[in-house]
Order: sequence, then C-alpha cells, then structure tokens
Amino acid sequence: MNTKKYIFVTGGVVSSLGKGVASASIGNLLESAGFKINFLKLDPYLNIDPGTMNPFEHGEVFVTNDGAETDLDLGHYERFTSVKMSRKNNLTSGLVYTEVTQKERNGDYLGQTVQVIPHLTNHIQEKIFDLPGDIIICEVGGTVGDIESLPFLEAIRQVRLKRGPENALFIHMTSVPIISSNKEVKTKPTQHSVKELLSIGIQPDILMCRCEVLLSKEHTQKISLFTNVEQKRVISVPDVDFIYRVPQVLYEQHLHSLIIDSLKLDKKRVSLKNWNQIIDLHDSAKEVLNVAIVGKYTSFNDAYKSLHEALIHAATALNIKLNLVPQNSELILNDPSALDSFHVVIIPGGFGVRGTEGKIKTIQYCRENNVPTIGICMGMQLMLIEYFKNALGFKNATSTEYDEDTDTPIFHMIEMLGNTPIAATSRKKGGTLRLGGSNIFIEESSNVSKIYDSTHCSERHRHRYEFNMDYKQHLDGQELKIVGVAKNDPELVELVEIASHNWFIGCQFHPELKSTLREPHPIFVSLLRAGLRFKGV
Ligand code: GLN
Repeated sequence: MNTKKYIFVTGGVVSSLGKGVASASIGNLLESAGFKINFLKLDPYLNIDPGTMNPFEHGEVFVTNDGAETDLDLGHYERFTSVKMSRKNNLTSGLVYTEVTQKERNGDYLGQTVQVIPHLTNHIQEKIFDLPGDIIICEVGGTVGDIESLPFLEAIRQVRLKRGPENALFIHMTSVPIISSNKEVKTKPTQHSVKELLSIGIQPDILMCRCEVLLSKEHTQKISLFTNVEQKRVISVPDVDFIYRVPQVLYEQHLHSLIIDSLKLDKKRVSLKNWNQIIDLHDSAKEVLNVAIVGKYTSFNDAYKSLHEALIHAATALNIKLNLVPQNSELILNDPSALDSFHVVIIPGGFGVRGTEGKIKTIQYCRENNVPTIGICMGMQLMLIEYFKNALGFKNATSTEYDEDTDTPIFHMIEMLGNTPIAATSRKKGGTLRLGGSNIFIEESSNVSKIYDSTHCSERHRHRYEFNMDYKQHLDGQELKIVGVAKNDPELVELVEIASHNWFIGCQFHPELKSTLREPHPIFVSLLRAGLRFKGV
C-alpha cells in the first residue's frame, strides 16, 4: 500500500499571492512535527526552465546544488526548511511537452495518438509520484483559469481520484481584497475562483485567503458557505512585515492540525520553539546597518531575492536590522559620494555591460576608503578588473563579456564539457554556463578560511566567464590575492581578498543560494560584522 501523502497548493484570483511562501511555510510546520517533506513546483510556462527568462520580470533564477536553473520559489522552500532542492523539484509545461514528444519519437507510445489526457497528464503524475519524501507539497504555478495550467490541474485531480482523499489534499489560495474607499472586505473573487476550480473537478479542502488583515468570523463564515469549505478550514494569510512569520500565522489558526487530520497522519506535536526564537531575534533588533546593493536598477524586485534573504538571515542572527538600499550604479559613476552613508556595499551578480562602469567606480571607492565590500560573481569579476585597471595600470582591463575584441581580457569564456570546464591547455572561446555546486579549496592563511573555519567549502555557481590565468603573475606580491580555487581545476578562480582592508572579498560563486534562516551563510555574517565595526558599534 502506498502511504505517501500529497498536498496540492493552487492559486486563484490574481498571481503573486505568495503561494511559494505559503507552501514553504506549510513545509516548515510539517517538518517541525518531524515529517519527511519534499516539494514540487509545477510551472505552466513553455520554457524548459526559467534560465533564459528576464529576472527583472520573472524574478531571480534559483540554482540548485545539482546545477538546475529553477523557479525562485524553490529558494523559499530551501530557506524555510532543511530540504535541499534538485532539478526533480521543478517541472515546467515546456519540459513536460519536450519529454512526452521525446517519448513519442522513441516509439514509447506504440502507435497511440498522443494526447494531453492521458499522455501529458500521466507523465506529470509519474513525476509527482517519483519524488522521495513522506509528504509532497506540490505548488501549481499560475492562476486557476489559465489555459496553460489545465494539464497540471487535471493531473492533480487524478492523483486525488487514484490515491483517495486521505492521501491527497487540495489547498487553494485566493485574494480577499479590501475596497479602499469604504474599507469593505470582498469575498466574491474567492467565491468565483473556487467555482472555477470546481468546474474542473477540484473541490478545495482548505482555503488560504490573502488579505491585508485577519478575516473576521463573519467573513470566513460567508466564504465557507459559498465555497463549501468548513469555516475552520478558511485560513487567513494577512500581510506580514517579515515573511518568516507566516508559519506562526498558520500555526495559530491550526493549519497543521487540519492537514494532519485530513491526511490521517500520525499525530505529532508541532513545535515552533526554535523558529520563534529566531523571529524574536529579528523583532528585538535595534542597531541598523545601511547596506547598498549596487546594480543597474532603481528599485528592488525579485531579481535579487536570495541575496536579500541571505542578508536578512545574517542580520537576524546578529540581532540587527538592515536598511537595504538599491543604488543605481550609473548615479555612482557621476558621484561616488552617494556611497558615503553606507556601512556595507554589495556588488551582486549580473550579466551584460550595462552599469559595469558605475560598479567599477563603486569598487574603487570602497577599496580606497576601506568600506566593507563583497563582490559576488560578476561583482568579483569587476573587483579584479578594477584592480588591474586602477592599481596595476592595465587601462583597458575588461572581460570579453563587455568587449569581445579587447586587448586586455582579464576575464574570458572557457570551454565546458557539460558542466565541467575542459583541460586548461585546450581552452578556447565558446561554452556554456558553469552551474551548480562544486568544491572549493581555500588558502589556509586567508581571511576567508577563518570565516569558513575551514580550507574547504562547496558553493553554487552560475556564470560563464572565468579569470584569465595569463594575468595571474601580475597579482604576485599585490594586496589583492586569489585565495580560493576550484578543487577539480586550480585554474578556476573562486575567491579573492584584500587582507589588510576592513573587509574586501570577492567570490565567483553565489553564497546567497545556500543561506537559510536557520543557517545564515558565514560570509554574510562576517560581512555584516565588519559593517558594524565600520559603523563604530
Ligand atoms: N556575467 C558573468 C558571467 O557570466 C557573471 C554572471 C553572474 O554574475 N551570475 O560570468
């Protein structure tokens, strides 16, 4: 008998309801009760993965340890729980269609007419059933009513039919707007959204209603009546100032008990004690650090989600608050004094030449003025380029990413074989992204090794350009040192630092992808500590 349990989270009314955070919070509650959970994000778009999608529209691409470029919700799942995601945890319509048509070409369907039902829907179910874990939380992206998500919804309807209501639970998340003029709470969109879901054969078991406030008894009663969902199963998800509070909000409304009862799970005690302690640290923080994130944008969106969260994790651990400010690098180009009020400066990852001049100016200012600074991925590349330009006199220093025909390619593309760079001697232009986790050797005498308390680490990557080893000799005896290289190829630079500086470290990898609220990344903790010292605290 198969006793694996499935929780399906759908969304209605509008997109961007925070289903990802809600799903991650459900995982958090169930994990706190000792259940082995796992996640699956079903994305209705036709891209094979979000790797090529514009992060300023779609949000960041989250990279898993096994090198998959995935939806940013997988980042929430990792940050709220202890589960690590892999390429198996994200499935797009594009991938489903590709795999099904591939099977057809292989002759797997033996002359059948290949159709959405049953072939596509069966394929989706195989993927759902294939995941390890006792409870699978499966979030369906998009909004109920979208054409693209229909095969996913049909597949999950069939899972319930096949596995029974005690093994498959439907949670539907909706929006309950408040009309600004008369402050009236509107339940009608929720009623319509549930109707839409019913029309494709899915009766939700639990509703999660996004609203500015906790819903009153009167409103949950009304929603219950019109949607055929018991009143105690209508949960409010009010706006919170700190997303990690959501598990607490759900706990207070006994969502965990509702799930445990519905799925006939062993009754275990859910304890949020440790989680609450961390939230308390956040709430009691007083000291504030000003942190500039220097990019090509003027306002924040989800493009740097993991970085923001990683900074918040580290700040929480240190019992401080952050004033995170997006700094347009082009403004700094004209006036670097815009950086005067910051205690920490961050040069994040990025692609393309736009904004790089301002970032180089920022790095020069921070290097010369002892401002604690981290360069991440593109940020590290620009740290080296800035140093070659301004400290070593290579006026044209750049990366072939920004100028293909440069005579001073400090960074260039290397050839990859799959995910592995091929032997240094036969490297030439061309290649693909280096993705996912790999091991790094850290120089024992470096500051970075003290931060990690180790000469080894494993971190995740997403980049294409590498330091050009022809220029390595010019760093001999210089302040800026290479202090970390890839373990399987010492010609791949991973870490640089200026030891005598307050804090000046660049990493080719993305430490933010490994940070969780429970386990903040040591690099960010150390950076913020340096920020506190710089502030004089
Ligand atoms: N654009 C750079 C590269 O491809 C850096 C990428 C990044 O910052 N993620 O190497």
